[in-house]
Amino acid sequence: MRVGSLTDIGKIRTSNEDSLGIDLERGIFIVADGMGGHQAGEVASHRAVESIMEALGERDLVEPVTDALRQAVTYANSRIELAAQQDRNLKGMGTTVVTAIVMDKHKRFAIAHVGDSRAYLIRKARIQQLTEDHSMVAELVRTGIISPEAAAKHPYRSAISRSLGQCKNVEVDIIEGDWLEEDRLLLCTDGLTRFVDNTELIECILRIEDPQLACKQLVDLALERGGHDNITVILIVHTARD
Ligand code: CA
Repeated sequence: MRVGSLTDIGKIRTSNEDSLGIDLERGIFIVADGMGGHQAGEVASHRAVESIMEALGERDLVEPVTDALRQAVTYANSRIELAAQQDRNLKGMGTTVVTAIVMDKHKRFAIAHVGDSRAYLIRKARIQQLTEDHSMVAELVRTGIISPEAAAKHPYRSAISRSLGQCKNVEVDIIEGDWLEEDRLLLCTDGLTRFVDNTELIECILRIEDPQLACKQLVDLALERGGHDNITVILIVHTARD
């Protein structure tokens, strides 16, 4: 397995409310995009990564890992929700999260997600978005009310419909799949995907073999387009050498 990762504040924001976490040994990868004023977004996304790592750290990650994943994300939700209740400065904070457990040995991956941070699978020359955005506009597209093109320009395109920390209970989406040689998984925040389209994502990922350089190139692309948001990417490559 080879992994690249990068987070960047972007060109407009004064703080980076995205967080990422990697445990290479156990194959755990997390990207979170926080929200809330006065640094609360930073606290929320950081707390999500920390809580999920903590919860998974106590588990033996053998298949099926989906229960462990769901419980870890649920635990993160309660921790963030409690912190927001206890500290006036953190009131209303929340975060997206996309977490992947990638098991080379078992040739499987599992993903848990809440919000509009995304996971993509790149297999051969194809890219597939694995996660469904939990956002207002994505719901409108799914029900056929507006087109994907209209969604991209919608004034409320960044309003998410599900996040960690905002309610006592949270619904967590779980996705599982085969993890084949040369497959790649991309986890990222909307600071990347709102400015770089699927064709550009796959072109860059297939052209640049080194995952760290590919991450740098993806972040640079988002920055070239204005860097309006924080940008975070993790790229995991299943290499034949493992
Ligand atoms: Ca964002």
